[in-house]
Amino acid sequence: MMLNSMRAEEEAMIKGGEEAVAWVKKELCIGCDQCTIVCDDDAIELYDTPMASPIMDVDVNRKAKILRDECTGCKLCVLGCPTDAIIMIDR
Ligand code: SF4
Ligand code: SF4
Repeated sequence: MMLNSMRAEEEAMIKGGEEAVAWVKKELCIGCDQCTIVCDDDAIELYDTPMASPIMDVDVNRKAKILRDECTGCKLCVLGCPTDAIIMIDR
C-alpha cells in the first residue's frame, strides 16, 4: 500500500502526454529489454553497440532507442527502467 502510493506520487511528478517524448540516457542503459516489454506502442528499439570496456568478454552491448513518432508520452518505460535511464523531455 505504502509502495503503491509512493509509486503514484513518483508517476505524477514525471511529465507525460502528447507534449512529451521519452529519451534514453545511453550511458545508463544496460540493454535489459524491460522498456520494450512495457511499451504498448512499439516505440522502443534495441540496437547493438560496442562494449565500453575491453575487460568484458562480450563483443556488443545493447542500448534502447526511442522512436519519437510512435511514442505517445505514456511514461510506462520511465517507470519500468531499472537503471533510471529513461526520462521524459519536451517534444
Ligand atoms: S529498461 Fe532501461 S536499461 Fe533496460 S533497455 Fe530499456 S532503457 Fe535500457
Ligand atoms: S513513453 Fe510510453 S509510448 Fe513512449 S516509449 Fe515510453 S512506454 Fe513507449
